[in-house]
Amino acid sequence: MSTIAVENVNLHHGLLHAVRDLSLSVASGEVVALVGANGAGKTTLLRAIAGAHRPTSGKILLDGADITAVPGHQRVGRGIALVPEGRRLFAQMTVEENLLLGRMAGRPGPWTVDKVLETFPNLVARRTARAATLSGGEQQATAIGRALMSNPSVLLLDEVSLGLSPIAVDRVYESLGALMRSGTTIILVEQDLSRAMRVAGRVICMLEGRVALEGPTASLERERVTQAYFGLGHQARALA
Ligand code: ATP
Repeated sequence: MSTIAVENVNLHHGLLHAVRDLSLSVASGEVVALVGANGAGKTTLLRAIAGAHRPTSGKILLDGADITAVPGHQRVGRGIALVPEGRRLFAQMTVEENLLLGRMAGRPGPWTVDKVLETFPNLVARRTARAATLSGGEQQATAIGRALMSNPSVLLLDEVSLGLSPIAVDRVYESLGALMRSGTTIILVEQDLSRAMRVAGRVICMLEGRVALEGPTASLERERVTQAYFGLGHQARALA
């Protein structure tokens, strides 16, 4: 299992300064929820950890080794897998083919197509169906399964509940439960704050590219996180 550290990272989209001098570390086996309003920089940060977005400055470390210059496909081989926002499946390929793609750049390990189907039983009957014909929940399960097929020690999940029915979200999180307890290091971007605080051991709240608040879930009141989420700390204190 692996630790991730981000040290004084700055990330830009052209002139837009999306992540500002941000540092954080995630311990081996920890489940951290990264929350924050739209545009806070969560996706950009996850993509930088996965190697899909090059920092303007700062460092990204995996188990203490500087991987800032390591390209994304090699990071998969070192155990970092990203489940991207919007799932990004190959629509004309079957579930099984999409899963097998996850194997290509990954590491040797226990994950097989059958093990993914055991973890996501809703995919069993859809094994040979094209991804384009899947429901949102089935697509999400396939996207997570594809990431698992690379045998990650660090799993980055970007808004896995987006666009899913409440039942499909419950199903996805139920399947993720075992993984969260298995020692895989997980950074989870989740819009549903209540769910994020239920599943994660620690919450990091981003606001305008910076960490506005972080702490163990057990010691954070939901109201404080909501205030940090919207940058309302000062107004809320002034109103009290
Ligand atoms: P969301 O919840 O909406 O996905 P987020 O916290 O993940 O938000 P990012 O998607 O990382 O935030 O966006 C951070 C900032 O970077 C925003 O101001 C966004 O408009 C901008 N941004 C993101 N992607 C691009 C891009 N490809 N080109 C230009 N600007 C971008």
